[in-house]
Amino acid sequence: MISDICPVCGMATVAEVPSVEHHQMYFHFCSEQCRETFEATPQLYASGTVEKRTPVIKQRNLYLAEACAAEDMKVNEACLKEMMGVKEVHFQGDRLQISYDLMQITQARIEQLLNELGVPLDNSWWQRVQRGWTHNAEENELDNLARGDGACCNRSPPGA
Ligand SMILES: [Zn+2]
Repeated sequence: MISDICPVCGMATVAEVPSVEHHQMYFHFCSEQCRETFEATPQLYASGTVEKRTPVIKQRNLYLAEACAAEDMKVNEACLKEMMGVKEVHFQGDRLQISYDLMQITQARIEQLLNELGVPLDNSWWQRVQRGWTHNAEENELDNLARGDGACCNRSPPGA
């Protein structure tokens, strides 16, 4: 059966985005972003529906190489908000405050988009180390969620 609901975000799928096979099931997506998210950890999205999934909201500060010009700010904010899973975006001087659902987007993907938008990040040693830590932590968290670690406590006891 082919679903017309994107398994990552719950929006309508589009035919232009290639489908992905996982355990002999074909999945369709609303966007390239959701397809990439699915392919990184398919176990997370292959079963269950978006409504049953708990969002994993992250709030981050990203430091920019220089303050974002006022005229670029609105465009950049709009582009970031168009990404699946991005909730709040706020530029303040050389700082970008952003919140997002880790189930739909990672900080690494957000940094990639900033790069595409021509918004350079602070490349000092300390900021690069911090971003590296966050990338690792987010990958581990998604892996753990995919394996179901810690989910036992939320499950009803057998026979209940
Ligand atoms: Zn989607």
